[in-house]
Amino acid sequence: MRLIDVILPLAIRDSYTYNVPESLMYPQPGMRVLVPLGRKQLTGIVLSSRTTPVPATIQIRDIIAVLDDRPIVSPLQLRLWQWMSRYYLCSLGEVLAAALPAGIIDDDYKARTEQYIRLTPIYTYARAKEALSRAPKQIAVLDCLSALSPDGKPVERRLVIEQSGQSTAVVRALEERGIIEKISQSVSRLTPYTGETHPPLPLSEAQSRAVQLILSEWQSHEVVLLHGVTSSGKTEVYIHLIQQQLTAGQSVLYLVPEIALTTQLTDRLHRVFGNDLVVYHSRLNTNERVEIYHRLLENNSPKLIIGVRSAVFLPMTSVGLIIVDEEHETSYKQQDPAPRYHARSVAVMLGHWLHAKVLLGTATPSIETYYNAQSGKYGLVSLTTRYAGIALPAIRLIDLQQQYHRKEMYGHFSDPLVDKIREVLSRGKQVILFQNRRGYAPMLQCSQCGHPPRCVQCDVPLTLHKKENELRCHWCGYSHPIFTLCPDCGGELKVRGFGTERLEDEVANLFPEAKVLRMDLDTTRSKTAYQDIINRFSRHECDILIGTQMVTKGLHFDDVALVAVLNADQLLNQPDFRAYERAFQMLSQVAGRAGRKGQQGEVFIQTFDIHHPVLQQVIAHDYMSLYHTQLEERKAFLFPPFHRMTDITVKHKNYATAVQAAIALQQRLKQVFGARISGVIVPSVARVQNTHIRLLRLRIEASANIAEAKRLLMEQTDYIRSVYKGTQILIDVDPQ
Ligand code: ADP
Ligand code: ZN
Repeated sequence: MRLIDVILPLAIRDSYTYNVPESLMYPQPGMRVLVPLGRKQLTGIVLSSRTTPVPATIQIRDIIAVLDDRPIVSPLQLRLWQWMSRYYLCSLGEVLAAALPAGIIDDDYKARTEQYIRLTPIYTYARAKEALSRAPKQIAVLDCLSALSPDGKPVERRLVIEQSGQSTAVVRALEERGIIEKISQSVSRLTPYTGETHPPLPLSEAQSRAVQLILSEWQSHEVVLLHGVTSSGKTEVYIHLIQQQLTAGQSVLYLVPEIALTTQLTDRLHRVFGNDLVVYHSRLNTNERVEIYHRLLENNSPKLIIGVRSAVFLPMTSVGLIIVDEEHETSYKQQDPAPRYHARSVAVMLGHWLHAKVLLGTATPSIETYYNAQSGKYGLVSLTTRYAGIALPAIRLIDLQQQYHRKEMYGHFSDPLVDKIREVLSRGKQVILFQNRRGYAPMLQCSQCGHPPRCVQCDVPLTLHKKENELRCHWCGYSHPIFTLCPDCGGELKVRGFGTERLEDEVANLFPEAKVLRMDLDTTRSKTAYQDIINRFSRHECDILIGTQMVTKGLHFDDVALVAVLNADQLLNQPDFRAYERAFQMLSQVAGRAGRKGQQGEVFIQTFDIHHPVLQQVIAHDYMSLYHTQLEERKAFLFPPFHRMTDITVKHKNYATAVQAAIALQQRLKQVFGARISGVIVPSVARVQNTHIRLLRLRIEASANIAEAKRLLMEQTDYIRSVYKGTQILIDVDPQ
């Protein structure tokens, strides 16, 4: 027998053993093979040849075909997959499904082909025309072809038809007579960059110093944190470091959060790196992804690959540098499905294996990262001034308590804010209004029984979408026309909470002359909507931009003089140990959008709690104070970086089974882990799509043997799954 272990895109087991019949080539690890499974056929990736015997009870089947003549997954990628499945407690198949663009495994990738035509080589144009003397239309086609391709090179068939003004039938007639021939050529789906390239901008003194310090920190650390205030010119620092790598023949992987991957950034990079730049974002379709994957596989010239978290799975050789920009961003963590990986952690592992340097950049580091920098595990370089000497924005808190008390409010706008907006608009400058989405979804509430209309399948109130005249569930997508009366008691329904839509109405009333754009999930559903809004705002086609978190990401608008946060309290009052860290990050980032070219920007933050320590830290631009207070809390309450957390979600369609399975699992884990396992937690949304949910949280000391802890955890979850049939147990290591 010639046995191999194959990874299949399934959640159950890591690998499946097959025999390679003598009639087939023996495949190498990383090649695709077609295998039978039950009555189906599946494509998998060869993990390794199998040297250890298989139990006699297991029937081993033959593979059907070997699909590649060389590996499409490198040994390094396979190593990453194995690390991920062990660290994040999921199957290799789940990693495979996340790692390879769907078209590679389903094999439904079709190269895009274009039809070309040329004069058949045995003809000359003169002889061909002779032969066609009585067919003027065909001669017209031939004349057109000879004009486009005097030397007989293939020309796009479409183009000849278009330019000759003749029909397809005429061209076909020429093809049938053997005078011209049709050729299919595969063409790229990716549009190449055709603009000019320019050398990078010269760096300021502070930026040059940062580059030197980063290089010297890399001498003794694999990972360096660049802590640079908003607009300090971190991107330019990256550009210089990237260029050094490309010149030295090394590739660079540049990770950015999804929403930050705008044309503002890619244009800037294209101008310097031209077609060495490869952009990998989530709006690519499967075929485009497959094409990029193959291009990287086949072409070893040094490249700058910029991408979102899944770019860590691309095939890469000789990588010299991995950049993780905005390293604090939560979108680096994949929530669902497994693998629930954090791209920053993966980048650090990859850097180690590839012998590449790693640079984490941000204005507001995550507590974990800063701790690593403080403890000497990572190098640390700071950029404390903004580029071109622009001052950090002046931040002012507005006391909503007082404003409401004095009745100096217009809707959600305080008097001083209204005045300031008027003033800024009168100077011809722009305003950003920030409204946090979480906890602010507008909904209906009954004025008699107090109940909001709820989703039929989830334990959440429905959100009001006034323009569409609909109530929607933001968890499952269920929708219902707006109720006029309470479905429970028939009472009168009132609107509660306020979203960006409501703000838009208030702004229209307060500032009728101002042109307003709204940016939130509802207005950015289409492929280009987000980019369109940004472009329009940066061209100053509107005066006020109303937005959620989306507006906080590293965008630069030259004319924004004022950023206003309508209500900071919802950000601060989240039941999450990271709430203060997140609030600081979000407020500092959104404040960072104010003030560009030669003028200090202003930021107004409305709050009921002006003495809140986090708001004081934001005003003072005092990250260190935030860091120290947060670190103390993390230590006292056993959170990361001192303890490692793992969330265990137990789900079942049946309420009683969900509860029983969670209790049973908790009891078993308690015997193993003692107080490290929480009690059974009822999550704030305990039912989604008619599935009941319970939660357990495991905290292990950072110094403990994590691998052993994970093995023990898996043993117990496997047991519970086998006893309580139909129970789903999801494991989230390092939850965000
Ligand atoms: P950050 O990434 O730290 O927020 P950026 O790198 O985006 O900052 O720079 C902020 C602004 O300053 C951008 O508009 C950028 O074009 C400009 N800038 C930064 N460095 C330079 C430089 N060396 N020369 C010219 N302009 C620069
Ligand atoms: Zn729902």
